[in-house]
Amino acid sequence: MDNPRFFSKECKFIGLKTVLVGDRDDGDKIRADKILIAAGTRPRIPNIKGLEGIGYITSDEALRLKIQPHTLTIKGGVYVASELAHFFGASGTKINIVQHKDMLIPDEDREVSEKFTQIFSKKYNVYLDYETEYVSKKDGSDKDDDGNEFHILAKKNLAEDCLELVSDQLLIATGRIPNSDTLDLQKTGVKVGSILMLQLSVKLPIIFILHSSNI
Ligand SMILES: Cc1cc2nc3c(=O)[nH]c(=O)nc-3n(C[C@H](O)[C@H](O)[C@H](O)COP(=O)(O)OP(=O)(O)OC[C@H]3O[C@@H](n4cnc5c(N)ncnc54)[C@H](O)[C@@H]3O)c2cc1C
Repeated sequence: MDNPRFFSKECKFIGLKTVLVGDRDDGDKIRADKILIAAGTRPRIPNIKGLEGIGYITSDEALRLKIQPHTLTIKGGVYVASELAHFFGASGTKINIVQHKDMLIPDEDREVSEKFTQIFSKKYNVYLDYETEYVSKKDGSDKDDDGNEFHILAKKNLAEDCLELVSDQLLIATGRIPNSDTLDLQKTGVKVGSILMLQLSVKLPIIFILHSSNI
């Protein structure tokens, strides 16, 4: 491709073959015969009381911390939770994993999930079948996240057992959601759904979507 032009802003559709760059009506409008959507995904944040605005991290921030946490509580239990538990655990951070299902990486073959859960449970504090109910934070010093105390209250499924964990960092790793909602796809007449790619290739051979967009 000759001379591709880079726009460093979000864009959205304003017509079937036209996208607007940025959020101002007088911004650049780009028209193309064929459009490829590869807008990817973002972390899915669960609806937990107290969580909003509290200063938790996701995988987007986890590897950019200025201070290594002494103790890290991870809400999740699949790949991102596991790989970041391994990363921080191997670096000396104490790890708590709060998983709402009865195994880590539960969608793998049962034997694999069981073995993996067993190995991880020997290395880290793994809490299975716990639903996180409430989080709060006590601020430490003004310097970055040093001295912060996250309190995580979780309840065992189908039981009265409550768990309170205290850590200086909280990582939310509970899946990803597609960025397609930022694109105003309705302006193209495209209906968003799980069989979108099929619908598109049959009815609208103009817009192409890469798998990771997970529309
Ligand atoms: C923690 C983590 C670890 C991973 N590890 C691995 C691994 O080890 N191996 C592996 O193969 N895969 C891994 N993956 C998956 C891999 O990152 C994705 O499959 C890959 O990034 C998808 O690429 P993409 O270009 O489709 O989307 P993305 O990488 O998400 O890129 C999408 C881009 O679109 C931009 N965008 C979004 N909305 C708009 C908009 N409205 N307008 C303009 N631009 C927009 C975003 O800013 C972003 O730059 C990992 C993912 C995560 C989260």
